[in-house]
Amino acid sequence: MAHVFPNAADETEPPIVVIGGGMVGIATAIWLQKSGQRVTLIDKAEPTGRASYGNAGVLASSSVLPVTMPGLLTKLPKMVLNPFEPIFVRWPYLPKLIPWALRYLSHGNEADARRIASAMVPIIGNSLDDHLLLTEGTPAQRHIKPCDFAVLFKDRAQFEGSKLGFDIRRDLGFEWSEHEGAACESYDPLFPKDYGFLAAFGKHGRITDPGAYLDDLHGHFVASGGTTHQAEVTDITHERGQVTGVVTSDGPLAASAVAITAGAWSPLMTKKLGVKIPVEAESGYHLEFWGASCMPKSPTLVPDFKLILSPMEGRLRVAGGVEFGGLKNAGRDVPFAALKYGVDQILPGLTYSKETRWMGHRPAPTDSIPIIDELPNVKGVYLGFGHQHVGLTGSARTGQILANLITGEATNIDLKPYKVTRFMGAKASQSRTAHTYQMEAS
Ligand SMILES: Cc1cc2nc3c(=O)[nH]c(=O)nc-3n(C[C@H](O)[C@H](O)[C@H](O)COP(=O)(O)OP(=O)(O)OC[C@H]3O[C@@H](n4cnc5c(N)ncnc54)[C@H](O)[C@@H]3O)c2cc1C
Repeated sequence: MAHVFPNAADETEPPIVVIGGGMVGIATAIWLQKSGQRVTLIDKAEPTGRASYGNAGVLASSSVLPVTMPGLLTKLPKMVLNPFEPIFVRWPYLPKLIPWALRYLSHGNEADARRIASAMVPIIGNSLDDHLLLTEGTPAQRHIKPCDFAVLFKDRAQFEGSKLGFDIRRDLGFEWSEHEGAACESYDPLFPKDYGFLAAFGKHGRITDPGAYLDDLHGHFVASGGTTHQAEVTDITHERGQVTGVVTSDGPLAASAVAITAGAWSPLMTKKLGVKIPVEAESGYHLEFWGASCMPKSPTLVPDFKLILSPMEGRLRVAGGVEFGGLKNAGRDVPFAALKYGVDQILPGLTYSKETRWMGHRPAPTDSIPIIDELPNVKGVYLGFGHQHVGLTGSARTGQILANLITGEATNIDLKPYKVTRFMGAKASQSRTAHTYQMEAS
């Protein structure tokens, strides 16, 4: 249910509190601000701790496919056991991971891939325009560049091996150009001769520096009257089914509504309110090569190594890796080595002056569809998280949708796919008063 404010500018009303200052949180805060609301944005950590800081910077509108495409299950054992493959498991974490993993892998069929991809289109399908709209009139807009998003294969046969994924995207209206042999070389002469087929999705975008983009958005939010606070939210308070505020490491704060946009940490907060949401931390890594001797023309995904080569201000960022080890996973050398191995294969002549490293947590729901909704059991608590590999892309639109939900403005898309009730039993999802829900048995 929408939260309608009698007088948004009334300073005697508590503000709307947004928890989490990553891309989804800041986009939500700015969209709320655009509609005249008073907003306090709380984040517990330095900006480098956010997935939004270290991602590949691609506004990847066509990346609607889940990781759980058909065929993953058969490839998985080799991928997990080979240190040069991009999927890693921290083995002590496995017992905790298994229930989530079983549900996640159950979606590895064509019907679910099509359903998930369709649900992603309204959130990420028009991301370049969505980000231009979010940043209109702000310094952040200078970081957005229109571009292609390229996918590099060895040859047409390898491309044909991904036919289902391309078919699904074509059926959803995405278009790409194909460049083979000499045409591949003339599209981008950077890559070795044995990579001779490239598919380029047009009308995409890239962020030239995701950390600086976030900084500029935060700066704009504060300059426009928003309040930011560095503290950890430890609880959300409510009375008679209505949110009243948050408890932070610095003390309590009253709130007229609360948005949980804390990425992979979000389920910790909903669990305290009695709702378990199956979202795992899917860690990812990047290497940066400063002063790189070569730069791809467009951000380029190389499926052989599951990495993205992304041109950025002053450096080439190479991002990838999927590691399951929970929120306490602080990273390790093996995924960096796998990324470096991929770079050595695809850019053998690369030289650079400095290398930097980063890892962070993508928020991954079992069904790969973000949760954008109001909590059914506590009015005034809104959810915006679970954007897995495309949270930068989908943040601008998610922030707009969430702000609309909070203020009661209409949104012109069907919000059913993003409802939190899909993870709850039927009885619980109909009730507003029950406090603890059981997760869906499937
Ligand atoms: C290697 C890699 C490459 C990627 N490449 C791309 C890409 O090219 N394009 C794309 O669209 N997406 C990409 N992604 C995914 C994208 O980065 C994420 O989906 C997105 O950043 C998630 O944003 P978020 O705001 O939900 O979470 P985050 O950016 O993680 O922000 C969550 C924030 O919540 C705060 N928080 C958590 N708990 C609390 C608490 N209790 N109190 C206060 N604050 C709290 C955290 O400190 C954090 O700042 C990539 C991810 C990785 C790891």
